[in-house]
Amino acid sequence: MNMQTNYSHLKIPFDTLEIYILSDGYFDIGSYQPIIATDAVPADLQKELNRLHLPADIYEAPINVMLIRKNEQLILVDTGEGFYDKKNAGKLLHSLKSAGFGASDISDVLITHAHRDHIGGILTENDNLVFPNARFYISRTELEFWFAQEPNFPNSRRPEFGHGSVSLVKQILGAITHRLEIFDAGDELFSCIKTQAAPGHTPGHIIFTVYSGKLSITHLVDLVHSPVLISNPVWGTQWDADFSLGIDTRKNILEQCHKQKSVVCASHLPWPGIGFIERADDQWQWTPKPYISPLLLTF
Ligand SMILES: [Zn+2]
Repeated sequence: MNMQTNYSHLKIPFDTLEIYILSDGYFDIGSYQPIIATDAVPADLQKELNRLHLPADIYEAPINVMLIRKNEQLILVDTGEGFYDKKNAGKLLHSLKSAGFGASDISDVLITHAHRDHIGGILTENDNLVFPNARFYISRTELEFWFAQEPNFPNSRRPEFGHGSVSLVKQILGAITHRLEIFDAGDELFSCIKTQAAPGHTPGHIIFTVYSGKLSITHLVDLVHSPVLISNPVWGTQWDADFSLGIDTRKNILEQCHKQKSVVCASHLPWPGIGFIERADDQWQWTPKPYISPLLLTF
């Protein structure tokens, strides 16, 4: 892929707010299995990828980062990979600039969970703050989990992923403790964001709904890493700290979004990751939201 074209933004006028989806680039883990669709029979996965017009032999997924502008406040949701994957990712600041903003303009950063592709952009390579004026918000459950004496991953399908990330999480979040605001899932933030617990991917993984006037959009974050996990939520991922809790949460929230006809978005669904959870043939289905201008989506 040509990275010259892989950073930009989509603007979404949103009643009194403006929402932007910024590209941080993408990640590439080679094949799907065993990490994604862990429990799928390989032939079933191939059939499903084919049905959904997804590449059969390679898992690449964008890193879509949401920015919310509320008057003078600029709220960034997660920070992308930062410098940890210079080849494919870490493009957030370029996309921010393309949208007309600089790093020092960010007033608040909502951390949905503490995986590297969400917190890697908090610090520079020299341990300086990338967003010098920002305060950071994280759920109590997520913070307490990672700062426990020994975070444990007994229900993960690959506990070494979790154990391998503990020291990095402690280093990054440890550097911003003086700027951290702790909230509980269910709390409202900034009078425009309603948070919701979505445990499984990580213990304190949160999703949230941005609202203004009659408009709302529900950000599923890492509830699903591919459209195949919307149609087959039980296939799971090895990234989930608790595999079976991840399945329960995925099913419950997909059903909630389907019933409520919510506009949803997600961090790693095909760019820009905005659409609907439909129901057909006894499965949930991903339907992208149509829009007509490359850089502008209107409701
Ligand atoms: Zn992620």
